[in-house]
Amino acid sequence: FFSDVDLSPPIEVFALTQAYNDDPHPNKVNLGVGAYRTDEGKPWVLPVVKTVENQMAADPTLNHEYLPIAGLTDYVNASIRLLLGADSPAIAQNRVDGCQGIGGTGCIRVGLDFLYKIIGCRVVYVSTPTWGNHKGISKAIGYDVREYRYWDNDKRGLNFEGYINDLKAAPSGAVVLLHTCAHNPTGVDPSKEQWAKLAEVIKEKHLFPFFDCAYQGFATGNLEADAWPVRYFVEQGFELLCAQSYSKNFGLYNERTGNLTFVSSSSDVCMKVKSQIKTIIRQTWSNSPNHGCRIVSTVLNNPSFYEEWSRDVKTMAERILLMRQRLHEKLKALGTPGNWDHIVKQIGMFSYTGLNPRQVDFLVKQYHIFLLKSGRINMCALTTKNLDYVANAIHEAVTE
Ligand code: PLP
Repeated sequence: FFSDVDLSPPIEVFALTQAYNDDPHPNKVNLGVGAYRTDEGKPWVLPVVKTVENQMAADPTLNHEYLPIAGLTDYVNASIRLLLGADSPAIAQNRVDGCQGIGGTGCIRVGLDFLYKIIGCRVVYVSTPTWGNHKGISKAIGYDVREYRYWDNDKRGLNFEGYINDLKAAPSGAVVLLHTCAHNPTGVDPSKEQWAKLAEVIKEKHLFPFFDCAYQGFATGNLEADAWPVRYFVEQGFELLCAQSYSKNFGLYNERTGNLTFVSSSSDVCMKVKSQIKTIIRQTWSNSPNHGCRIVSTVLNNPSFYEEWSRDVKTMAERILLMRQRLHEKLKALGTPGNWDHIVKQIGMFSYTGLNPRQVDFLVKQYHIFLLKSGRINMCALTTKNLDYVANAIHEAVTE
C-alpha cells in the first residue's frame, strides 16, 4: 500500500525552526516562527494564565469528561462578546452563536467545510500573500482557490485598487477570507474607509465574508479597536463566519484554543447553522479539548482577570512596536540603501521586509538568522540583545 507514496513537501515555518534548533551557532536568531518572545528571547506564559492554571490545578470539581460538541458555553459566549462587543444588536437579537474549535486552524477548516458542504460554495478568495494554510485548508476541502491582490511590493503597502477590482470580478457566492487585523504576513491592514468600500463590493457581488481573527489586540494593543472590521460588517447586516484564535493573544499556542462565531439573519437560521457545524465537528474531531479554553473562559468572564489580560496584550503589542522603531532607527543610522519606513508603518507581529530570496539566503547562511523566503520577519523575535546583530546583517545582505 505505502511503497509508492511521494514525500510531502516540508512546511516552511516548521522546517525553519528545526534548522534553527539544529544550528549550533551562538548568535543564531529565529525570525520565522509566529510566536511572541520576551526581550530575553523567551516564550511568555502570561501571568494571568499561570494564576488561572494554578486555580484549576487546585479545583477538585474539574475532571476529564468530554465537553459538549459545541464546547464550553461560557467560553463561546465570552468569545462572541469579545469579538462583537457585549452590546452588539446581533447578540440581543439572538442571531449569533459559536462553537469551540481546535485553534484558529480548526475553526477555519470547519467553517470552510460548512460553506462547501452545506451552502454549496465552491470558490474561495485569499489575499496575495496570505497565511500559507488558508490555501492548504481550502484545497484540502476541494475549493477552487483564487487570489485577490493585496501587497504592493513597490509601495510596500496595500494594493487597494487591485484588491477591490479582484473582488469585483469574483463570481457570486464565492467565499472571501479576510484577515480581521494585523494581516499575516504583510502587517498591512485596510483603513476604515477601505473596509467600508470592501463591504460594499462584497454585498453587491453577493460574496461571503469569512473573517480570520488570529491577532485581536496585536494591531493597536486595544482588543475592542482591533475587532472593528467584524463589528462593521455585522452592523451592515452581513451574515458571516469568524474564526477566532487565542494562540497569540493568550500565548496558548499548543492548547489549540479557537472559536468559530457565526452571525446569521435570524435566531431560527442561527440554530440550524449551529446544528450543521456541530455535525461537522462531530465527524472531524468529535469534541474539543478543555484546558486552554477553560483558561480563556475564566479570564474573559472575570472583570479583574480580563483587565490584567488586556494589559498583557498591550505589553506584547508595545514591545513589538518598540522593536519596529529600533530596527528602523538602526537601519537608517547604518544608511542601509532603500526606504525602511514600512517597518514602522506595518502593524502586528510581522513585518514584510521586502528582502528578496537571495538576501534571505545570505542572512541564513552568513549570519544564522532564520526567516521565511518571503522576507517576513517576526518582530518580537528581535530583542535588545540581538537587534544590532540583525540590523547589521540586513545591511550587509542589502549592500553585498
Ligand atoms: N490565521 C492566521 C492568519 C495565522 O497567522 C494563524 C497562525 O499563525 C492562524 C490563523 C492559526 O492559528 P492557530 O494556531 O490558533 O490555529
